[in-house]
Amino acid sequence: MSVLVVGSTALDSIKTPWRENPRLLGGSASHAAVAASFFAPVKLVGIVGEDFPKRYLQLYRRHGVDLEGLRVAAGKTFHWAGEYEVNMNNRRTLKTELGVFETFTPELPEKYRRTPFVLLANIAPALQHRVLDQMRRPRLVVADTMDLWLNIALNDLLKLLRRIDVFVLNDSEARQLTKEDNVIKAAEKIHRLGPKYVIVKKGEHGAILSSTSGLFLAPAFPLNEVVDPTGAGDSFVGGLIGYLASRKGPIDSNLRRGMIYGSVVASFCCQGFGLMRTTKITREAIEQRVRELEKLVRF
Ligand code: AMP
Repeated sequence: MSVLVVGSTALDSIKTPWRENPRLLGGSASHAAVAASFFAPVKLVGIVGEDFPKRYLQLYRRHGVDLEGLRVAAGKTFHWAGEYEVNMNNRRTLKTELGVFETFTPELPEKYRRTPFVLLANIAPALQHRVLDQMRRPRLVVADTMDLWLNIALNDLLKLLRRIDVFVLNDSEARQLTKEDNVIKAAEKIHRLGPKYVIVKKGEHGAILSSTSGLFLAPAFPLNEVVDPTGAGDSFVGGLIGYLASRKGPIDSNLRRGMIYGSVVASFCCQGFGLMRTTKITREAIEQRVRELEKLVRF
């Protein structure tokens, strides 16, 4: 079954202590769409400006991403610039230039509206609502967010939580949202706000799923070198929903394995700048790393 992805479609300028790469293809929707494309057909909803390089459209196409829902508008593509510290975990946003996102209201093509799996990747919650408003009875809705929306659009986000099935956020966002230091307690509080499934990401320490069936811990794949972690969270959630869309049977019985696939795609993402490494992997490379990860946690 197919996956609809909405989120930011961006140009990212990324600086690490060792290298600098301007205007790479980035954005939450780009990372998530490519990650999901290894498992299921993907439909993209987003907006780019006239400056968006044609080769990036080709890149989406090479991954079979349906671009009917990607608007090319007069103006500049969303541009984000960030800088990592030596530890590659701490990141500072240097620039966020909204460009064409400033006036964006997503209008879904008719054929998108019945897509069974919906990923509301990180973008303003009002836009996530706007997409959900146009969907007809999706089977599963997964949403991601970031601290910015907790700060400036909390009400919209709280309303969104009542409309989704799976909420994915990182540990610091879970603490900020619930005012609770313990992530397990934080997840319990988030369930009360709506979502049946809560996934708390802990970066290089993996992710925790909380649901009525209890807890599940998905490790991150251990890497001896991280080139650029930008988009790892989006790749995780894209890999997860892509995997779920590719499986038969109840969501509950596929979620745990889905998180492992998400972790594995995210690990590839960290091994190159922007999408450079992710776009080069194959389904077989993913399967092999899943097997390696399985060996690492079996006891
Ligand atoms: P992650 O590393 O998973 O947190 O995601 C990084 C991606 O988020 C980058 O590719 C950025 O283009 C994108 N991004 C940064 N700020 C925003 C924002 N305010 N809204 C939407 N996407 C953003």
